[in-house]
Amino acid sequence: MSNQDVDRNEKEWGSGGGGAPQEPEGGSGGGGSQTIESNWDEVVDNFDNMNLKEDLLRGIYGYGFEKPSAIQQRAIIPCIKRHDVIAQAQSGTGKTATFSISILEQIDTTMRETQALILAPTRELAQQIQKVVLALGDYLNAICHACIGGTNVRDDMRSLESGAHVVVGTPGRVMDMINRRALRTDYIKIFVLDEADEMLSRGFKDQIYDVFRTLPSDIQVTLLSATMPADVMDVTSRFMRNPIRILVKKDELTLEGIKQFFVRVEKEEWKLDTLCDLYETLTITQAVIFCNLRRKVEWLTDMMHRRDFTVSAMHGDMDQKQREMIMKEFRSGSSRVLITTDLLARGIDVQQVSLVINYDLPTNRENYIHRIGRSGRFGRKGVAINFVTEADSRALKDIEDFYHTEIEEMPNNVADLI
Ligand code: ADP
Repeated sequence: MSNQDVDRNEKEWGSGGGGAPQEPEGGSGGGGSQTIESNWDEVVDNFDNMNLKEDLLRGIYGYGFEKPSAIQQRAIIPCIKRHDVIAQAQSGTGKTATFSISILEQIDTTMRETQALILAPTRELAQQIQKVVLALGDYLNAICHACIGGTNVRDDMRSLESGAHVVVGTPGRVMDMINRRALRTDYIKIFVLDEADEMLSRGFKDQIYDVFRTLPSDIQVTLLSATMPADVMDVTSRFMRNPIRILVKKDELTLEGIKQFFVRVEKEEWKLDTLCDLYETLTITQAVIFCNLRRKVEWLTDMMHRRDFTVSAMHGDMDQKQREMIMKEFRSGSSRVLITTDLLARGIDVQQVSLVINYDLPTNRENYIHRIGRSGRFGRKGVAINFVTEADSRALKDIEDFYHTEIEEMPNNVADLI
């Protein structure tokens, strides 16, 4: 691992020691309730009325969007007006397109300079964002480069030097490219942090500041996330100017449309049998299974394979090529069950995922909503099943209280709900 190539997956989290495989992935410190209140009322419920460039509008409709989602109706306009914006809305409600459209409206594609920089916590998310920007910006001929760890540095430099209007990347590689002067920051006018609370939690904070310091002083900053704990909100005041805050209330964050169940397993050892019993249900559409540790992902995958179940696995210790291949297979539907860590808890959008299993309950409350938000994308139906041992009962109760939600015992006909 080189210093220049640190992203969340390679980063050691927390102060404790422990080898990387034991480190939980994707833990933005827990705590904190939702704290922001909206201070912007304008709602534009139609893309036509947003005064967007014709070619951008064509890109939006061409991508299949007909009507802006709630967050898009509220956040695109202040972004385009160059306000700093903090936008919080439930997972799967179109935040990616919110900032992508705002960026595409503002950049000048006749000029071959990088004008927008987006940072995301994982490589997979950065690549997904790149695809959305390219698709929406198709008619504008917008060039968007994904600048992520685990890829060839020289190739990255070459792509950047040939000019990209928008750069989306993980913090380590982006900083490296800035240091090497392959990524010039002089013309960057918009800086976006996706999954902002995670990005501003301790693991990434310093790297983000390092990047931020290289940007022009009149930079516009946009933050997006499904969760925004109080301590993170405090940090934002250090680099945002009178931000517009747009919030989808916490109650609405409780995963409407996603049915949540628990299965009681007396002992940890019995989870495996429970999962095997559910296998047919998993493959009705597509499913993601979350474990807390990379090691456990490997163990579970191995056990499932031994029992002749087809599953794929992904975590941050795998090399980039392998990660890309696994994501590709899962996105295409050729693999239907993916076992993973919190690496994929956030942002990843595969519309066919209708079931999420928490083989382990997440270690922080925020990630619960991110994980189960992998199902039920953009208003589709979703089911989440939590495996709970006696020892987990409290944590489950805690989740129910925190999200004001009820998690019921899994019914026998759960397959009918998917
Ligand atoms: P978030 O970033 O809030 O988690 P995404 O931006 O990934 O959510 O969007 C979730 C899904 O909804 C994506 O598949 C996206 O293409 C789709 N989507 C977003 N906005 C719209 C829209 N206005 N109309 C239809 N589908 C949309």
